[in-house]
Amino acid sequence: MSRREFLLSACGAATAFLALNACTAEEHAAGPASLSATGSTPGGTYEIPPSASVEPESAFEALGGEEFVFDIQGHLLEYHLNPVLNGQDFWASFPQQGCGEDDPRACYSIEHFLELMFLRSDTNMLVLSALPIFPERSPQGHDVMDLTRKVAASLCQDERILLHGQALPNVGKLDAALDAMEHTANAYPVAAWKTFTHFPDAFEGDGNGWWLDDRDPNERQVGERFIRKAKEIGTDTICIHKGLSLGSPFASPDDVGPAAKRHPDMNFVAYHSGFEADVPEVPYTNATRSMGTNRLIWSMEREGIGPNENVFAEMGTSWWFVMRYPDQAAHFLGKLLRYVGEDNVLWGTDCLFYGSPQPMIQAMRSFQISPEFQERYGYPKLTKELKAKILGLNGAKLYGVEPNTQACRFTRRELEQIRRTLPSRNRVLGPTTMAETQAFRDDDREQWATMATMLA
Ligand SMILES: [Zn+2]
Repeated sequence: MSRREFLLSACGAATAFLALNACTAEEHAAGPASLSATGSTPGGTYEIPPSASVEPESAFEALGGEEFVFDIQGHLLEYHLNPVLNGQDFWASFPQQGCGEDDPRACYSIEHFLELMFLRSDTNMLVLSALPIFPERSPQGHDVMDLTRKVAASLCQDERILLHGQALPNVGKLDAALDAMEHTANAYPVAAWKTFTHFPDAFEGDGNGWWLDDRDPNERQVGERFIRKAKEIGTDTICIHKGLSLGSPFASPDDVGPAAKRHPDMNFVAYHSGFEADVPEVPYTNATRSMGTNRLIWSMEREGIGPNENVFAEMGTSWWFVMRYPDQAAHFLGKLLRYVGEDNVLWGTDCLFYGSPQPMIQAMRSFQISPEFQERYGYPKLTKELKAKILGLNGAKLYGVEPNTQACRFTRRELEQIRRTLPSRNRVLGPTTMAETQAFRDDDREQWATMATMLA
């Protein structure tokens, strides 16, 4: 076995987690290393026997699994179909750009996505989640997501990809945006709505953001109308990017609790759980309730929303960050399970942005919260049953799907053949309804001008 093959194997993964355990323990021995290291010993560890670094059987025992894995936050960027970018070079922000293609943008293709998710990880089913990108010629527009779904359905002979509909109630006229939601729901099988209260503000710095609960009369009052429209269309799940704010105040999860209280018949899923990359995950107290995921918990507490009600926490990217810091990982998972609820913590990874999600799955399977943290903070012990709920069963319940643990296997050749036979887009781009057209003409001169330049 070459060194490279070794590192790619389960033994290699086990070695990495064992090293992480050792470093964390050493750090604790040297004294309190961070705000998250609140225990006398590490708050979390990867439960892996030392033998796993050399014995494949032992490594598979610790890191393998047959449970249902349902990743509710998948993304890809198909620049081949939609080569014109609209100002947001998403590809340049993520590790997947180094996959080895001559053009790094090709690393984000439908082919790479399906291979990484279904061949190079234990993921069984997934949701393609919308991105904060203007929909026109988006490299992950509804058409691209739907094509990916169809390719997978042909390859696997079953339905294992669900789609988000993207809603942008604050972009252009509200009536047009709500009309567009209806159009999307008629054209595609929308399993839930994905929306961004901090878009486009986070990228444009233009102050164009909004709140689900219309909390600020000085901002656009589109939250309540958006939620009602989703309900009217017949979708009862709203997914909102919360946390990872890129400096925009609108990404705060403060508005999730109030919106969920006002709409007990709707599910509100905080994607990323309110986590911020530059804020440590610490115990939930009065003094820390404005930090990271604590903001989500506080917004629920203020409204009297308890665990396992209609607020959900999704782990995409957040887990990728915290799994490197076992103390933070323990607080992150422990808090969400205690306050948002053991039925309401949902698996998501944001892959293929980080390559294959397999290391995150392996981390989840082997992670444990220390007895000290369990005792002191009321965090649960992470049993195999609880992990199976997080990794897939909770998501299956929310999205109303039957857990499908059958693997889907295919070759690159089969993948490319199916891609060729499925029709690709050939429709004319632009506003598609009367209200959308009006919105473009009336008050989106700037956007219209940008569109014209792009189409020129
Ligand atoms: Zn995402």
